[in-house]
Amino acid sequence: MHNQDQKLIFELSTTGRIGYSLPEMDVPEIALDGLLPEGYLRLEEPELPEVSELDIMRHYTALSRRNHGVDSGFYPLGSCTMKYNPKINENVARFNGFAHVHPLQDESSVQGALELLYDLQQHLIEITGMDEVTLQPAAGAHGEWTGLMLIRAYHEANGDFKRTKVIVPDSAHGTNPASATIAGFETITVKSTEDGLVDLDDLRKVVGEDTAALMLTNPNTLGLFEEHILEIGDIIHEAGGKVYYDGANLNAVLSKARPGDMGFDVVHLNLHKTFTGPHGGGGPGSGPVGVKADLIPFLPKPIISKRGEEYVLEYDRPQSIGRVKPYYGNFGINVRAYTYIRSMGPDGLKAVTEYAVLNANYMMRRLAAYYDLPFDKHCKHEFVLSGRRQKKLGVRTLDIAKRLLDFGYHPPTIYFPLNVEECIMIEPTETESKETLDAFCDIMIQIAKEAEENPEIVQEAPHTTVVGRLDETTAARKPVLRYQKI
Ligand SMILES: *Cc1c(COP(=O)(O)O)cnc(C)c1O
Repeated sequence: MHNQDQKLIFELSTTGRIGYSLPEMDVPEIALDGLLPEGYLRLEEPELPEVSELDIMRHYTALSRRNHGVDSGFYPLGSCTMKYNPKINENVARFNGFAHVHPLQDESSVQGALELLYDLQQHLIEITGMDEVTLQPAAGAHGEWTGLMLIRAYHEANGDFKRTKVIVPDSAHGTNPASATIAGFETITVKSTEDGLVDLDDLRKVVGEDTAALMLTNPNTLGLFEEHILEIGDIIHEAGGKVYYDGANLNAVLSKARPGDMGFDVVHLNLHKTFTGPHGGGGPGSGPVGVKADLIPFLPKPIISKRGEEYVLEYDRPQSIGRVKPYYGNFGINVRAYTYIRSMGPDGLKAVTEYAVLNANYMMRRLAAYYDLPFDKHCKHEFVLSGRRQKKLGVRTLDIAKRLLDFGYHPPTIYFPLNVEECIMIEPTETESKETLDAFCDIMIQIAKEAEENPEIVQEAPHTTVVGRLDETTAARKPVLRYQKI
């Protein structure tokens, strides 16, 4: 611990100090005795900090300065698409008509909200090239699970109960095998070739009558587009399986290529990544799932559809897998994504992809002279470096990540994907300027030089943060140390 410790709000507390003013009560006070069952009544006053409004303001402002977010600095966290969240999205999500609707309101009184959801579905159908979309899933992994349940329902409706296996390449996002397991399938891993793509020979060996589906992350977590994507789809389809497209990283192909055109049966998107929902720290997400026509009957219900001029919730769906989320998904995030799509327009969305890919390739080439580049070819929206050269000097990728904190950067994703030694996975996103990319590259290059000339400074980093190097496991398992009165 450094000694710039900030006091806890309880330590700032002074008995009798208040931060609010309320008018005198003008109704009689009611005794709660007898109104609530005994066991629910509080026996002691709650222990609350007693502080002024200014104390509170300064306390939380100071805390916020210690945090790192997209609004405060560059956040190149691979696979997470930490791009700028336009503030217009927030304004629109706060419109009274959106923020104050109640999920149990009658359909006739929320036509505007339903129209927005319906329109968003239409945009996502166009963007993905699928036939129908559900907005219910609350996150990417939830979309994966939903998609797999749809595939299971499809096979079972065909009387096909032997398809128990889901094939997942080793370059897939970690949620893919987890979702397959939770959906009750057995996961079969296929290896990548030396150039980071799915090994087709290996794939042919594991495909069979028990294959329910293949889940493909494209571009994969190495930032590479699967060059044999049509052939991969054919191999699975010929065996009677379905192909699932993990479209969380749509930033890389948006408006350029569509999973539906590539022959995929199911796709999920992460509206909180590509479509600018603020995320990180566990905020609400949205993981819509798009399907081809033969899977539509199984979609979660209700379906939002249009009858004449009216938007309706359809519940009469006998083959539906049921609800996967109360109400209609995370409405506020869907409003933000809709605002983003409408304010960008088709040309804007095309530019997203072009700049996301350009930015990643620019950084990759600048850094390739200083760090090992395991896959020396064009990347999509992100790329991986290997810190194995630095490791030989006694500096690990973890040390490099910690050293970046000294310069105010959120570190990239590290040690993932697992098939790259000392992996560093960088995703700059399209919303960053060339100046920001250059400044970050300059620091990465400086750290590579430090590793050669003065490794201790990297090994002992961070030096300028409020707390020094934390025990990673304890920090993850016990993020909050309880306040104890001394
Ligand atoms: C982020 C991500 C996911 C998981 O999305 P969540 O919303 O975090 O559940 C799945 N696949 C890929 C490729 C991702 O980048």
